[in-house]
Order: sequence, then C-alpha cells, then structure tokens
Amino acid sequence: MPAVSLATCATYALPEVRAAVARALGPLGGIGAFVKPGNKVLLKPNLLQASSPDKMITTHPAVVEAVILLVKEAGGVPSLGDSPAGAVKSVEDYWKTTGMWDVCKRHGAGLVQFEKGGVVMRARNGRKYHIAKAVADADVVINLPKLKTHSLTSFTCAVKNMYGVIPGLRKSNYHREAPKPLEFAAIIVDVYALAKPHLTIVDGITGMDGAGPAAGDPKQLGLVVAGADGVAVDAVATHLLGKRPLAIPTTRIARQQELGETDVSRIALRGDSYGVRTDFRWPPGWFFALIPGPLARIAARLFRIKPAIHAEMCVNCGFCVESCPVSALVPGVKVPEFDYRLCINCLCCQEVCPQHAVYQKKSAIARLLRP
Ligand code: SF4
Ligand code: SF4
Repeated sequence: MPAVSLATCATYALPEVRAAVARALGPLGGIGAFVKPGNKVLLKPNLLQASSPDKMITTHPAVVEAVILLVKEAGGVPSLGDSPAGAVKSVEDYWKTTGMWDVCKRHGAGLVQFEKGGVVMRARNGRKYHIAKAVADADVVINLPKLKTHSLTSFTCAVKNMYGVIPGLRKSNYHREAPKPLEFAAIIVDVYALAKPHLTIVDGITGMDGAGPAAGDPKQLGLVVAGADGVAVDAVATHLLGKRPLAIPTTRIARQQELGETDVSRIALRGDSYGVRTDFRWPPGWFFALIPGPLARIAARLFRIKPAIHAEMCVNCGFCVESCPVSALVPGVKVPEFDYRLCINCLCCQEVCPQHAVYQKKSAIARLLRP
C-alpha cells in the first residue's frame, strides 16, 4: 500500500516551510529514504511562466529552498531544471523571476538548462519521446509541482508536472499530435511513466483554482503533500479538494496502465490531518471531454476560456505564432490574430510569450460563474 503524507503549513516563511516539508517526509522514512550521500538529485519544479512567486503560478522558492537544504543534509548534490516552452528564448529570465536563481546560488545548487543538455529517446505506447538527459542522468528525481487547476487537463500536480522534462517547443508537437484533451492526457501519462520521479513534494501552500494554470486565482490551501507514488499523490490531492480522483483524465489513464494507486482507501494517509475542502473551484472546461461531440462544442462555446492578447503589452515578436501547434495564430499588423475555430486551448502561446501579453479570456457566462 503506497503512503502519502500531509503537512499543514500556513505561510511561505522558510522555517515554517522547511519544518512542514521535513514533517511530510517523516512518515515516508525522511529524506534519507530517498537520497544517499553523493547522489545527484534533480529537482523538477513547475516554472510555467517567468512570473514572480506571489502570482502563485510557479513552485514557490521557499519550498525549493527547503528541499535543497534537506537534500544537502542527506549528502546529496542538488540541481534544478524545468523546461517551460518559452524557455528556449530566455531560460535565465524564468530562473530569475521565479526566484530559483537566488535560491540555487545561495545554496550552490546547479541550474540545468534542459534545452542545451541533450535528450535521450524513449518510446511508450507506440510513440517516441525526447526526455531531457539531465533527468535520465540523475540518481534521484524529486518532483516539486504546484497544486493548480488546468483548463486543458483539469488538474496539474504530480503527473502533469513531469511533462516539463520534454525540452522546449517539442512539447507543442505533442499537442498537435493529440489535440483532444483525453489524447493529450495519455501523452502526459506516458511522459510521467518514462521519467517517473522517485519522490513528489507538492507545493499546495497556496495553490490555484478556477481557470488555472495561469489565469486562475491563488487559493490558500496550507498544505504540503508528499509521496513516492505520484499517481497516489494526485489521487489524494484531488480527493482533498472535493473531486473524485478518477474524474481527472491523467489519473484515470494512469490507473488503466497500473502506474500507481488511485483508490484513496488503498493509500496509507499519514501526517497531519486535513479535511476535505468544498470551496475549491474546478475549471469549467474539465467536463467537456466527457460530453459527446456536438453537445460538447456548444457547451464549450458558452463556458469557454480562450486565449487573447493584451495589445498594449504585445511587441509582435511572433513567438506565440511559432509555438502554436495547430496554426490557430497568424501574424497580424499590430498583434497576432487568433482563429478560434482551430484553437485547441493548449496554452502554448501563453507559455511562450516573453511579454506576458497572452491571457485567458473568459466568456460572459464563465465570468458570471467565476470558476
Ligand atoms: S503575444 Fe507575446 S509572443 Fe505573441 S507576438 Fe505578442 S509579445 Fe510576442
Ligand atoms: S492559439 Fe494558443 S491556445 Fe490556441 S492552439 Fe494555438 S497555442 Fe494553443
């Protein structure tokens, strides 16, 4: 029976976060159960955008710092890497804005650029994947997701976070190959299985609900979740946020493929007690994948959250046009223009925009519902 451990934590003050992470790891055998002296330990946070930690879009640097300190105490050699789609242009901007640069420099942890470090090829379910070599080379991979909703996949936590081990814009290609949310969820699960982390520690201190992963609202949850089975971690997190774990496509697919435990009654829940929340707002689009064809399209139009561009922030660099896997963006005179009939809402354009000019626009009904 896999164990998932919880620790409550009210703030991002480092002493409190450090104590909470250590407490969460205690029932799992402590950091020493995962990291041995001399191990190369790669930390994989969620650096979706080059945004400051207070936006709550990325894994908070205090959580990363707490884990670096624990890894070093265990004698491990920590480094950190992620590959947000826009990082091909300027990964340093991501590291600096999200607080990773300062934390890593302070504690001598390496910053790894997945785009420059090479890839290893892996295959699963008939598809080939490029996985960052740094992930394959690490003795231990620690997954550090931010707990958030996701308008395409409904949830981003342990399993979805590992999708960032595919370097750069290759991630967009998989969106093109699998434009439907369920197909794309299967790809995410493949990548998780190929780059399976040894340990997941979730930053759920302040997560995001509503229209995540970037346009939702910060949500104070006060929670750190840890476990070796990332699928079980997602199942427990989903359950605590008031949703059936199998309503999450990646969790359902992971169960079909026997990649981890999804039944909360078969997971040993350890650590601090935490009640089931009823105030977490899931994105409106999550159920579209479950509705058949034409009905889903009508519903999606009514409740839609679609990408749009703040014209005053756009410098018309064209990165978003290049990144769109289905050519739903074309160059425009002042700003690129969307063809919403083609858009699959993959959010790649938002992820690559160096000006943060792309945002998720809610339809009038979606705004009324304030997902
Ligand atoms: S929206 Fe962003 S990425 Fe697209 S052209 Fe404008 S500045 Fe560049
Ligand atoms: S327009 Fe943006 S959200 Fe829509 S498919 Fe293209 S990259 Fe994805």
